[in-house]
Amino acid sequence: MDRQLERIARWIVEAKTVVIFTGAGLSTESGIPDFRSPGGVWDKYNPEDFYFDNFIASEISRWKYWQMSTEMYEPMKKAQPNAAHIAIAELEKMGRLDCVITQNIDNLHVRAGSSPEKVIELHGTAMSVSCLDCRKKFDREEVQKKLKEEMKVPYCDSCGGPLKPDTISFGQAMPARETQEAYSRSAASDLFIVIGSSLVVQPAASMPVTAKRSGARLVIINRDPTPCDSMADIVIHDLAGPAMTALLNGVKRIAQG
Ligand code: NAD
Ligand code: ZN
Repeated sequence: MDRQLERIARWIVEAKTVVIFTGAGLSTESGIPDFRSPGGVWDKYNPEDFYFDNFIASEISRWKYWQMSTEMYEPMKKAQPNAAHIAIAELEKMGRLDCVITQNIDNLHVRAGSSPEKVIELHGTAMSVSCLDCRKKFDREEVQKKLKEEMKVPYCDSCGGPLKPDTISFGQAMPARETQEAYSRSAASDLFIVIGSSLVVQPAASMPVTAKRSGARLVIINRDPTPCDSMADIVIHDLAGPAMTALLNGVKRIAQG
């Protein structure tokens, strides 16, 4: 086994509070494109079309948003968890994980077997929809079905307000409870492992900094370099699936002693 991975496996076994922090790179091996890689979402769409203010401002923007959002949701719904999601769920079952903080909206951690109460979704979820006025919740599938039939922006059947997927757009407030919890879990961790995140989106990207400043060891597993690499104790530039599989095997071996 790779010497660096072996060290991380040892740290996982020794640590009291392991927090895993994931981004879109964790799900690319499930066939869901990330935002910033070539061929990713930002090669195809204009980020401005995702601004929350635009969604509020006009019917045309809302329709554009729903079209883009539908195009991203359909493959997400069909995607299967990959080896990295499964290894993370395994680590939890072995009692090695405090929680997973994820920027992903694809629900793949839970579908891989992570307990919902152990997964903090910082940027919401694509699996449900809410009315922006009365907060009534709707099942995403039902809204998509209606949208496909009517080909227009969906509105709330109770109050007439606009419906929006429960994901956080640029300029939209982060979920308060999740954000607070993510900060406090990061600060309380003694081992913080980033997997598949470019670490450029705030405030999510400040979590590893919070963990490191509070005394945690910081590990980054990402295909490409990130702005936090220089402060990490170990950086592995590799794919999440193979790296996490090797890491899980290492933890099992060391734990069996
Ligand atoms: P990002 O697109 O900014 O960065 C992804 C990072 O993952 C890149 O640095 C890339 O090098 C790395 N990467 C890609 N494939 C990898 C692999 N197989 N193994 C290891 N590393 C890999 O994504 P981000 O940091 O999560 O931030 C962007 C935002 O995108 C988040 O807010 C998130 O909500 C949203 N998003 C989510 C999904 C999803 O839920 N699957 C998909 C696209 C975007
Ligand atoms: Zn409503």
